[in-house]
Amino acid sequence: MLAMNYRGPYRIRLSEKPMPEILHPRDAIVRVTRSCICGSDLHLYHGMVPDTRVGTTFGHEFCGVVEQLGPEVENLKVGDHVLVPFNIACGQCHFCLQGLFGNCHEVNPEATALGGIFGYSHTAGGYDGGQAEYVRVPYADVGPVVIPDWMDLDDAVMLTDVVPTGYQAAEMGGIQKGDTVVVFGAGPVGLMAARCAWLFGAGRVIVIDMYDYRLEFARTYCPAEVYNFKEIDDVVVFLKKATDGLGADVAIDAVGGDASGNALHTLFGTKLKLEAGSAIALHWAINSVKKGGIVSIVGVYGPTGNMIPIGNVVNKGITIRANQASVKRLLPRLIEHVRMGHIDPKAMITHRVPLDHIADAYHMFAAKLDGCIKPVLVPNG
Ligand code: NAD
Ligand code: ZN
Repeated sequence: MLAMNYRGPYRIRLSEKPMPEILHPRDAIVRVTRSCICGSDLHLYHGMVPDTRVGTTFGHEFCGVVEQLGPEVENLKVGDHVLVPFNIACGQCHFCLQGLFGNCHEVNPEATALGGIFGYSHTAGGYDGGQAEYVRVPYADVGPVVIPDWMDLDDAVMLTDVVPTGYQAAEMGGIQKGDTVVVFGAGPVGLMAARCAWLFGAGRVIVIDMYDYRLEFARTYCPAEVYNFKEIDDVVVFLKKATDGLGADVAIDAVGGDASGNALHTLFGTKLKLEAGSAIALHWAINSVKKGGIVSIVGVYGPTGNMIPIGNVVNKGITIRANQASVKRLLPRLIEHVRMGHIDPKAMITHRVPLDHIADAYHMFAAKLDGCIKPVLVPNG
């Protein structure tokens, strides 16, 4: 079968790989019909995630048709069209039983932090992902959900990660009625977080990014007040002024970054200038949120060296909440929000790409070219 094949940072290929096989009675083999590239894949692409091995197939946002089932999977049948949460979870461990499917202990017991994630390096369990014609789905009796007849496949694939992550970002913000919420990052995750902030009762939503085309989209899609940080001298001062001198009630980091970018910048002032992600958005979130406010982090970070201003967290009495999204926990209510028309996930899909153009798609999404918000790969036609 054809599959994405990681050859090192910035080197993405498509190549022949052996067909995946059932290795465990709770496995399924799924023929992929939609598979997205995510901002999280860009961390792998940039070489930020430890133990990303050459030969790995990425892809944690996919849906497809069940082709084979292990004998212990009783809740699915061959031919079902399923959406597959990005978390791989056993459904039975201490964490899964609390609904923390992103923190499953069983799938990745030796890891200090991450649970299991499709196509996300050996740090996340070493499972191949769905940027391929076929994929093995472990614990297929836990994650996959049959796509309702009325649902568009483009909406379904966005429910595997972007929608639950954006929703959980807003949920972790503990938004109270009338709150001002500032979202850093107008990628698919930030856009969805800003959209969902209204569902939790926000009174005002602000989105910050550096790409005007994404901000223009945010203005009507979320909808939100939007600001390009490249046009602002000091983002923290600006946001304070825009919020009666107090700061926003809730700040959401939907950017993430890595340690390497930090060395380029002065981290101890608030007047930080930058051209790319790194931990700057998190600085801005901590330094601009109201005293006693909440910072919700869904942006993904490298393991060490982010040098966050923890003193300011203490002195301002800020609560920080963060996690990988727990997709399966949120799916029932999110499917209902899509059905009711409260959220329109597929509107963020700007590019539909055949699998053999995968390297170009990575480049376009990483460099934010051609108005790209979310690219979806369409294997198997
Ligand atoms: P993306 O690359 O499409 O979007 C990131 C956006 O952040 C870009 O538009 C970029 O211009 C903007 N940005 C960069 N620096 C900024 C700054 N200082 N202030 C404001 N905006 C800034 O990525 P995405 O798919 O939207 O994902 C966003 C983040 O969410 C990534 O770190 C990704 O790994 C993470 N993520 C987390 C989870 C989870 O479960 N926690 C799931 C999916 C994605
Ligand atoms: Zn993702």
